[in-house]
Amino acid sequence: MTLATCEDRDTDELRAFRLKAREWMAGRLPPRIPGQPYMDWTDKELVAADRRTQRILWDGGLAGITVPKEYGGLGLTRQHETVFGEEAAPYRLAWHLGNNYNIVQPVLLAHGTEEQKHKYIPRMLNGDHIWAQMTSEPSGGSDLFGLITRAEKRGDKWYINGSKIWTTGGEDSDMGLCLARTDPTLPKHQGLTMFMVEMHQPGMTVRPLTLVNGTQDFCQEFLDDVEASEDNIVGEINGGWAVATTQLAAERSATSRGWYIGVGASLPRERIEIASHPVKLAHELGLAETQRARQIVGEVIALEALRELVAQRASKGIDAGTLPPTTGGVASLASSTLNQRASELMTELAGPCGVTGPADGGEPEQGMDRVWLFRIGGGSAEMLRNTISERHLGLPREPGPGKDVPFNQLRTNAAS
Ligand SMILES: Cc1cc2nc3c(=O)[nH]c(=O)nc-3n(C[C@H](O)[C@H](O)[C@H](O)COP(=O)(O)OP(=O)(O)OC[C@H]3O[C@@H](n4cnc5c(N)ncnc54)[C@H](O)[C@@H]3O)c2cc1C
Repeated sequence: MTLATCEDRDTDELRAFRLKAREWMAGRLPPRIPGQPYMDWTDKELVAADRRTQRILWDGGLAGITVPKEYGGLGLTRQHETVFGEEAAPYRLAWHLGNNYNIVQPVLLAHGTEEQKHKYIPRMLNGDHIWAQMTSEPSGGSDLFGLITRAEKRGDKWYINGSKIWTTGGEDSDMGLCLARTDPTLPKHQGLTMFMVEMHQPGMTVRPLTLVNGTQDFCQEFLDDVEASEDNIVGEINGGWAVATTQLAAERSATSRGWYIGVGASLPRERIEIASHPVKLAHELGLAETQRARQIVGEVIALEALRELVAQRASKGIDAGTLPPTTGGVASLASSTLNQRASELMTELAGPCGVTGPADGGEPEQGMDRVWLFRIGGGSAEMLRNTISERHLGLPREPGPGKDVPFNQLRTNAAS
């Protein structure tokens, strides 16, 4: 199969940026270690190392490629970011800080005040702050706008009460974007407000969740009169729906691009071995000469390339204004579907250790647990299909309780 090399596509300016980034990275960034997971929140040293890497990027003037200069970034284009990621392929970037650049920066840039942008974005770029997303709740994550965590104003402060769950990296995060219901007398999409909260402040209990595979990547938070000031509100009071919509779109867009900068499949041909984990796995298991293993390797590499092409087509079209922003959802669904298929194939290739995880605790991508991860993380495939059909294709909305009914009069999710 032929993949165009990245450098074939460079303009003169991108080529100059590529060479500058390549030269700067050598000897400064930590190498990417085969078998090391991209994210592992139980490995505190790895989380700390990622913070340090982010600081190295900041000190070297290479943090926040697309973030405007006035907030500490480089003010460059998405193409520059892609080039940067390609050059970073041999290195480990600050992947535990993914929420910072994939989600919170786009949200603050779109909805934050100037003061909020100046206060928080540089601290994301220099590695001081890791951010968490506090959206899902024990009562259900898909029905995001049915959430029941509430915030009440007493005096000049807001107090948040409720519980959030499946918060990736909650325990190691410093700040969280927390969506709460501020007016239950309004319809469910209207009475919500987005707060920035400190993850380790009085009233906030962050409890790691141990999953069946032994990982502790997720947390549940219990919020008991967690205090927030007016300055902690992103967007309008009761206008959290618009902020959360940006947040979800940013997450979908990042998921469709592969989430981790520098891990993508779009690599120069000579570096494909680094990205193509199935090739390595087939060799390790002594299966490289078998017909089935070769079929799997071929299909997984093709799926990676396809995912990358769909993502590029979507992001280029959105950037150029030739495709609507909702195309991000299409790319995200393609990504989750293709990733799921790739995980099924990798599980088949890995055999027993694809079910139990490798004995040496190595690459997690071959685990069966990944098969379902891709269908759920960043919004489940079913919900994405709903969004695409309603917002992208203009089909009728899914039947549900009247959109004008006050939240506290809905048959379910009634305020207590
Ligand atoms: C890797 C990963 C990281 C995550 N990180 C975070 C995080 O940092 N912060 C955070 O807040 N959350 C996070 N989540 C949670 C995630 O957003 C939720 O799991 C997801 O939104 C689904 O919610 P749920 O688990 O409550 O499932 P449910 O909402 O209970 O859904 C269960 C199933 O029912 C289906 N379903 C529900 N409603 C409908 C419908 N109307 N029509 C058709 N099918 C439907 C769903 O698609 C799903 O398959 C993460 C999840 C994963 C897998």
